[in-house]
Order: sequence, then C-alpha cells, then structure tokens
Amino acid sequence: MDVVILGGGLMGTASAYFLARHGCKVTLVERNRVGSGATVASFGNIRRSGRYLPQLPLAHRSLALWRQAEAMLGQDVEFRATGHLRLVFGQNGLAAMRGFIEAARPWGLALDELEMRDVRGRFPGLGPDAIGASLSPDDGSGNPRLIAPAFAAAAGRLGARIIEQVAVGAIRKTGSGFHMETSGGSIGAEVLLNTAGAWGAQIAAQFGEPVPIEARGPQMGVTEPLPHRILPVVGVWSGDGAEGYLRQVERGNIVFGGGVERSQVTLDPGHAKANPASLSQQLRSLLPLLPALAKTAVIRTWSGCEGYVADGLPVMGPSATTSGLFHAFGFSGHGFQLGPGVGDVMAELIATGHTETPLHDFRIERFANGQRPRLSSGMH
Ligand SMILES: Cc1cc2nc3c(=O)[nH]c(=O)nc-3n(C[C@H](O)[C@H](O)[C@H](O)COP(=O)(O)OP(=O)(O)OC[C@H]3O[C@@H](n4cnc5c(N)ncnc54)[C@H](O)[C@@H]3O)c2cc1C
Repeated sequence: MDVVILGGGLMGTASAYFLARHGCKVTLVERNRVGSGATVASFGNIRRSGRYLPQLPLAHRSLALWRQAEAMLGQDVEFRATGHLRLVFGQNGLAAMRGFIEAARPWGLALDELEMRDVRGRFPGLGPDAIGASLSPDDGSGNPRLIAPAFAAAAGRLGARIIEQVAVGAIRKTGSGFHMETSGGSIGAEVLLNTAGAWGAQIAAQFGEPVPIEARGPQMGVTEPLPHRILPVVGVWSGDGAEGYLRQVERGNIVFGGGVERSQVTLDPGHAKANPASLSQQLRSLLPLLPALAKTAVIRTWSGCEGYVADGLPVMGPSATTSGLFHAFGFSGHGFQLGPGVGDVMAELIATGHTETPLHDFRIERFANGQRPRLSSGMH
C-alpha cells in the first residue's frame, strides 16, 4: 500500500515509522523541517493523569512505546519515567484529584495519593503550602527536540521517503487515490494521512469535513541551570482548570508553562510568539509549586502553534466522506504523550483496516451538521 503523510510533526513521523514497519510504501511531506511545528515547542510532559478517561487506552499504548523508544529508534530521546507529581492547594483541587483517582482506576491508571509529610520528605522544596498531592509513578517526560527527527530517521531506515521543505498545495481525489500539487512537483498515493497539526482542519475542509479548531500558542519558558534536585514533572490539581507546570531537565534548567492565557495564532504563517509582558504573571502562578523560582533567572521563552478542537479532543480515524483519507490532527495541547501511540494506531488502522484501541470519541463526523460536543480536559 502506498501512503502519503501530510505533515511531519510527531504524529506524521511516528505514523511513517509504524506504516513502514507494516511494509507500506511511505512518503512523508513536511513544508519545514520534521518536528519543527507544535512538537518542538512542547513542554515534553508524558502525563496520563487528568486525561479524558476514554483516551487512556491510547495513552497507555503510547507510554509502552515511549518506554521502548530508545531500543526501537536506535537513539536516546530522553524519555525518563521520573513520575508526575500533582500538588493540591485547595478543597476544589482535592475533590478533583480524588474524583479522578477513583474514576481512572477502572481504566487501568493507578495514581497514588500522597500524604504531605511524604511529599516534604521525598520532594523537598516543592509546594510548601500544598495540602495534598498525587503521584503517577510511571509517567515522566521526553525531549521534544529529539522525538520527531528520531522517528523520521528510523522510518527512513525502513525505506520511507521523508521530504522536507516541500509544501502540499491542492489535493484532488482520483479514481485510484489522491493527486497532490506540492512546491516540489506533483505526487500521488492510494492513501492520504492528514497529520497537519493546527492546519489539519484546512485539509479536512477540502473533503467536506468541517472541524471547529482554533490555533493557539501556550507560553513556555526555561531558567538558567541549577543543581539538579527536582526529579518528577510537577503540576497542580486546581479543580477550576487553572494550570501551571514545571520540570527540571538533567542539565539543571527548569522548564515551565501554564498560568497564562494561550495566545491566539493566525494559521498563515502560524508563528506563535511568547508574550514577555505576561512572564511575571506566569512566574507568580508557579511560585506555590516552587518558591525557589523567585530567585532564578529566565533565559528563554517560546511558544508553538497548536490546534485546539472545540471539545478539547483530537480528530483521529478514517474520513467520513472520502475513502482512503485518514486524519490524526488537533491534539489540543496534549499530543506529545500520545504521539507514538497515535502513529502505531493510525498505521494499524491503515494497514489492517482495524484497531483494538478505541477511537470512537475522536471520529471526525462528531462535527458533521455543525454539531459541537462538550469541552473535555486538554491540559499538559
Ligand atoms: C508550547 C506547547 C507545549 C506543549 N506541551 C505539551 C506537553 O507537555 N505534553 C503533551 O502531551 N503535549 C504538549 N503539547 C502538544 C503537543 O506538542 C502537540 O499536540 C503535538 O506535538 C502535535 O503534533 P502534530 O504532529 O499533530 O503537529 P505539529 O508538530 O504541528 O506537526 C504538523 C506539521 O504539519 C506541517 N504542515 C502543515 N500543513 C502542511 C502542508 N500544507 N504541507 C506540508 N506540511 C504541512 C507543519 O509544518 C507541521 O510541521 C504542547 C504544544 C505546544 C505548542
């Protein structure tokens, strides 16, 4: 089977790798460099806690692949199962945490509720005023700069063609598949996989499949390096959607995000910018997690263009209008954890026509006839 993948972020490159493993003839077309969209901007959180529950089977499948990533891809992509600690500062947060711990258990996710004396003993300096916390011991983080190029290189070794700096323009359905005009000439394939991230809805719209999506840019920052003391990824159970999160990389810098509005981004050209004016507000919101941040210099801020679907869930699965067309886009701020699983599932679906991993809630036709499903959780 001949497959063109449109978009070389984490979803496209992981799909290329797994499709090539299924023996498909794969061409991936990326208009910039692979991984240079939302993927490289990611905070790098590999978190299952707080996820939309029916997404957990996909998240578990993806975590298993993150664990194998180094052996599978032949390079260390800095996946570290450091644990994901989420602190609680008020009664709403406590209720949200306990509700989620209870609800997630039947979905195969076991979070530990920690006593504050354990938090203080195990994680000194974090959340001095917290009243509770959860720990997801198997979660952690990975390096957003490494993962997509690693998938692309591994796919290339299996025979996939990775084309960079070529943009896909007009697409036409033909009797045998798809014909695409690109800035590097025309190409055709039996199957088209749309992994165009925030731009994915523009592709779907060409096939009569509207998806309400907004392009937004979450704001991230990184501090100067400090002695390496913080092992887990740290977040909050706020109970009201407010979020703030940080982690310390092995080189000592603290990477942080959340606590401020995501900026609006225009899809053309799709450059998301951090807003230096909101940095002090962002840092203030993170001080309860780590008071030591008050004395630490921030050396860089950034953002990235991510597609947020109206209900906070991605679009994944076959097109409802066009045979041979598949979609995997709109990961709404939580696709980094899911990426390897998305590639594996989409490849399975395309190559075999079937997957055991439930995708029903992510089907594109949920937006047919202007329907707008309810918003679910979509934080990092
Ligand atoms: C700042 C930030 C922080 C985040 N933090 C986390 C986190 O901690 N944990 C988490 O789970 N998720 C996080 N996310 C979300 C996660 O990074 C994304 O969900 C994920 O990377 C999306 O991958 P993608 O492949 O769908 O999109 P992208 O990486 O954006 O890839 C899409 C690609 O398609 C290409 N493309 C589009 N149109 C065309 C065309 N016509 N021709 C050729 N190429 C085209 C683009 O150039 C782009 O490279 C974060 C996102 C951002 C922006």
